[in-house]
Amino acid sequence: MSERKVLNKYYPPDFDPAKIPRMKLAKNRQYTVRLMAPFNMRCVTCGEYIYKGKKFNARKEDVEDQTYLGIRIYRFYIKCTRCLQEISFKTDPQNTDYEIEAGATRNFMALKLAEEQAKREEDDLKEEEASNPMKLLENRTQQSRNEIELLESLEELKDLNRRQLRVDYDTLLEHEKKLKLIENEKTEKVAVTAATTKMTLPNAQPSTTVAKNDSVENESVKSSGNALSLLTGYSDSDEGGESDNN
Ligand SMILES: [Zn+2]
Repeated sequence: MSERKVLNKYYPPDFDPAKIPRMKLAKNRQYTVRLMAPFNMRCVTCGEYIYKGKKFNARKEDVEDQTYLGIRIYRFYIKCTRCLQEISFKTDPQNTDYEIEAGATRNFMALKLAEEQAKREEDDLKEEEASNPMKLLENRTQQSRNEIELLESLEELKDLNRRQLRVDYDTLLEHEKKLKLIENEKTEKVAVTAATTKMTLPNAQPSTTVAKNDSVENESVKSSGNALSLLTGYSDSDEGGESDNN
């Protein structure tokens, strides 16, 4: 047992490591690796869906004739889970992604394709601007003109809205009615309490109610102003002239 732990083993004086036969390995050997499907795909042969994250025992090999800026590209082979059709895809270092090669089609690609297209267009535009200063200037002036036009149209729309402001009379009247009802109840209560407390002065009672009614009307006018401002969303000072025009 102690022999197992010995670090230095005895080499005889005539030991020649060159005489040890070398293991022959293929140049581009395929390795078996465990991997997860890097994207959703659908088998071309049987139509089976293979979802992102499904685990496979895959074969891995180098793609011989391709590199990206010196980065090696790998190809993987997996088998469809239903029909055992071989599916192959390879790494895509340029887009930090994978690229399907055979046996399946990739799903949910519409968004990605659109993004790629947009990016390409943007890059083209940038390149054009970088190479052509006149074009850059033109684009800038166009942009500022567009901004000014946008602001103008916004102002016009605001003006139009202000002119076409309509007051919803129905809800306004409803609100008014409610307020009046509440006020009436209050005055009635006051009258009742006055009547119960001052039984000796029957003449004073109507005069007080009349005074109350006056104040009620004043208050309702004020509240209608408030309601109007609520409906229109403008402040009192702002809407005074406008509502008169309407
Ligand atoms: Zn299949």
